[in-house]
Amino acid sequence: MTTDEFRKLDQAYVWHPFTPMSVWLDDEPVVIERGEGCELIDTDGNRYLDGVSSLWVNVHGHGHPTINAAIRDQLNWIAHSTFLGLTHPAAVELAAELVAIAPGRLSRVFYSENGAAAVEVALKMAYSYWRNQGAGEGQRDRFVRLENAYHGDTIGAVSVGGIDRFHDTYRPLLFSTADIPSPYCYRCPLGLEYPSCDLACANALDAVLTREGDRIAAVVVEPMVQGAAGMITAPDGHLARIAEIARRHGVLLVVDEVATGFGRTGHMFASEIDGVEPDIMCLAKGITGGYLPLSATLATEVIFEAFLGAPEEHKTLYHGHSYSANPLCCAAALANLQVFEDERTLEAIQPKIALLADLLAPLRDHPNVGDVRQRGLMVGIELVAERATKEPFAEALQVGADVTRRARPKGVIVRPLGDVVVLMPPLAITDDQLTRLVGAVAEAIDEACTAAA
Ligand code: PMP
Repeated sequence: MTTDEFRKLDQAYVWHPFTPMSVWLDDEPVVIERGEGCELIDTDGNRYLDGVSSLWVNVHGHGHPTINAAIRDQLNWIAHSTFLGLTHPAAVELAAELVAIAPGRLSRVFYSENGAAAVEVALKMAYSYWRNQGAGEGQRDRFVRLENAYHGDTIGAVSVGGIDRFHDTYRPLLFSTADIPSPYCYRCPLGLEYPSCDLACANALDAVLTREGDRIAAVVVEPMVQGAAGMITAPDGHLARIAEIARRHGVLLVVDEVATGFGRTGHMFASEIDGVEPDIMCLAKGITGGYLPLSATLATEVIFEAFLGAPEEHKTLYHGHSYSANPLCCAAALANLQVFEDERTLEAIQPKIALLADLLAPLRDHPNVGDVRQRGLMVGIELVAERATKEPFAEALQVGADVTRRARPKGVIVRPLGDVVVLMPPLAITDDQLTRLVGAVAEAIDEACTAAA
């Protein structure tokens, strides 16, 4: 089939995620056929830098021989067998390896297939943990969420989410939460400035837990970076403060490392930056190097033990999926960790993080760039109509989407979050590619902002 035939079929039959389909139907979608390292290649042979790691999942590049070989090898044994009542080698080995690298005392691994599911599991784990400990009606039955949080698109995950644009439509369907402010320093919801604020946004948790601590099962937080909100980077100490307050009140801490995990922040897990020991941790996206869908919810032994008991006591975690712990996915995840070791990935990215900061520096002077946020290889560039007043562009102008469109013929694929241009390249990106990526995006920003003025 020709590219045009693929496009026509897509536009006739497919409904894309998070996509205004009216715009899509008028567009000329790029049809990606191949991947090589940090590049995507379309059906006409055009090459693009994968500037957002295929939605924040790819780690070591596309077509990595170690990961490809591990998947092929597993396929020779078995593609899938159930994890309900049976086990298999790849899942067992992977669980042991995840526990070995996880922060704090996380010691048990519960598998599912995507980030939202990992969060659903975490919520059910926390809620049932307290029930199994004897919590009654009206006790430990609520969660604390952060404004601007994003934890996935299923109903439980949306309930602890706080991005009005995505979540407000569904509010009547959701469970209620206690809310604390977002660590959004550029537009501080409390009108304060860091560091004189003394992390008032995190301190708000103390007031909530003092008021209704015995109602709260857990605090759910994206550690250090609120990704989908526009790469909102929390200041150092924010996560530590949340953890300290939660601990003091005896409330569980759930960290959602779905986006931040596997090296994105320059550390294997973002929780390490503040030295935090979570009770529950959610992993997905980069866990397989971005090759296959797998997620994991890790818990401490204390939590796990609360689920032990005779079957008729019904302390079991009643959750599972047809494809829980799929062997191909687990094999890919083992290979992903192998590459981290073989290529010393965490060491290799440190100079790239510094180079990225240097490359981004001139953008800070652009009249339509309000804020440039970077944590490791996660970047958000917030565009504004006017720098002095931080006045946003009119939504109808869709400036962020326009940047994306203009970056494409320059050989770069990026995806915005509103008017925040996101860069989140694979950890394997080379210095030269990083330079090209930022160069093309800076040009696209300039063109789009000029057109919008
Ligand atoms: N949590 C966080 C922090 C995320 O960024 C995302 C996805 N962007 C999710 C959960 C949901 O993951 P998935 O898309 O795999 O369901």
